[in-house]
Amino acid sequence: AAHEHPVALGDAFARALPELAVPWEATRFERPELLELNEPLAAELGIDPGWLRSEPGVRFLLGDELAPGSSPVAQAYAGHQFGVYVPRLGDGRALLLGEARDASGSLRDLHLKGSGRTPFARGGDGFAAVGPMLREYLMGEAMHALGIPTTRALAVVATGGRVMRDDSLDPLPGAVLVRAASSHLRVGSFQYARSLADRGALRRLTDFAVARHFPEARDDGRPALRLLEGVVERQARLVASWMLVGFVHGVMNTDNTAISGETIDYGPCAFLDAYDPTAAFSSIDHAGRYAYGRQPGIALWNLTRLAEALLPLLAEQSDEAADAGDAAMEAAKDTALAALDAFAPAYDRAWTDGMRAKLGLVGSAAPDEQVRGLASALLAELQEHRIDFTGAFRALADTARGREESLRGLFPAGAAPGPWLGEWRALSLDPAAMDAANPAYVPRNHLADEALAAATAGDLASFERMLDAVTSPFEPREGLERYALPAPPGAPRHVTYC
Ligand code: AMP
Ligand code: MG
Ligand code: MG
Repeated sequence: AAHEHPVALGDAFARALPELAVPWEATRFERPELLELNEPLAAELGIDPGWLRSEPGVRFLLGDELAPGSSPVAQAYAGHQFGVYVPRLGDGRALLLGEARDASGSLRDLHLKGSGRTPFARGGDGFAAVGPMLREYLMGEAMHALGIPTTRALAVVATGGRVMRDDSLDPLPGAVLVRAASSHLRVGSFQYARSLADRGALRRLTDFAVARHFPEARDDGRPALRLLEGVVERQARLVASWMLVGFVHGVMNTDNTAISGETIDYGPCAFLDAYDPTAAFSSIDHAGRYAYGRQPGIALWNLTRLAEALLPLLAEQSDEAADAGDAAMEAAKDTALAALDAFAPAYDRAWTDGMRAKLGLVGSAAPDEQVRGLASALLAELQEHRIDFTGAFRALADTARGREESLRGLFPAGAAPGPWLGEWRALSLDPAAMDAANPAYVPRNHLADEALAAATAGDLASFERMLDAVTSPFEPREGLERYALPAPPGAPRHVTYC
């Protein structure tokens, strides 16, 4: 008997942008096992978690059993990887299953990672290992709980297969990550569309992105400019929010920069322990291109690549469009530069507001300049003495409550906070608001490694415990003390692999 399927998916991207969508099928795995299911997210997406745990549910999660309306595609995109342009990247091991409508009425891409080789796989095997897929789950949920826009993991399913990876001598258990995102459009999607001979794809991609992410600009007549302005604003706020929690993305290539303003592609990312603008953890980032302190500049660099891709549209959608091509292109460049100029003030605004909250000064009359000065003085000392970033702000709330030893205790013998501390304490502080702005728990690298090693060996208990800590990051709880601490002194330098 016909009955309603538990999930309905759209194929709007595949229909609107066939040039960027290669129909493809996921690999069929014989012995899949659901490792982790994000029940709150399933509920948000209107999908019954009980069904997802059933055999047909797991087959759906693997792209094996398709929901009505779903026609999976590998998405094409280009990208600058570490500054070098690669004209054809695309989903080498990933598939867009389709778009779901969430509880709030918004469209969310459902996407698989590790589902087998596609025509974009180049030398890759198309698969993913359990550890990195659970890592993406953990990091994304931590970011979401911190209030930072992000793609989110719906599930991780062990495939039953094995994969070989450079950082391991032994084959590793394989997994598929099922990810929800407000879209998977990237700066690299626009770079790819720009490279096509027919301008139609770039126009359609722009209209598609505006309709999806900036619907208020739909009938404006200058969609390319509205898109650029909107993405500049969202990326500025996003990267500021990373900086405020000590997050290092690790691989800010233009194909990993989402048009939606969500954090995407948790590969070699990491959270700071000691505050250090030069911190870079990725095994392949030898030059520190994507170091913590470089992230705002890199975001602007990536946005400049988006602006370049949009130039022909900025020209044809300008008042000079009727003029000769050269004049219109010149005007488009000026328009693009003006839009990019909005990055720095938007970033500064978001960072200053965030620091004001972290310092307990939201209700204070302290001017922005004073907030920035206090924050800079604090950060300089954290850097000089290699003090834990997350712990320092929690200790500062204690200090605001009169327990000054809490912050002092983080300084090495013979060192102490400078005059900024007295200046700050004299202001009207709100310690309870500080507790709500400064997480106690972020996914510490050494603890994530430990939990993922156990999970790879089949024991998910410490992964679950850590997930519990970082998804209620502002509430210190008994028994979770170690999740609030940095790696012990003398621990080897952390390295992440993609
Ligand atoms: P990433 O560094 O994860 O953003 O990936 C960059 C590019 O490499 C994308 O085109 C991916 O689809 C592709 N890729 C990464 N890992 C694999 C793999 N194991 N098999 C096939 N393609 C891959
Ligand atoms: Mg990527
Ligand atoms: Mg990756």
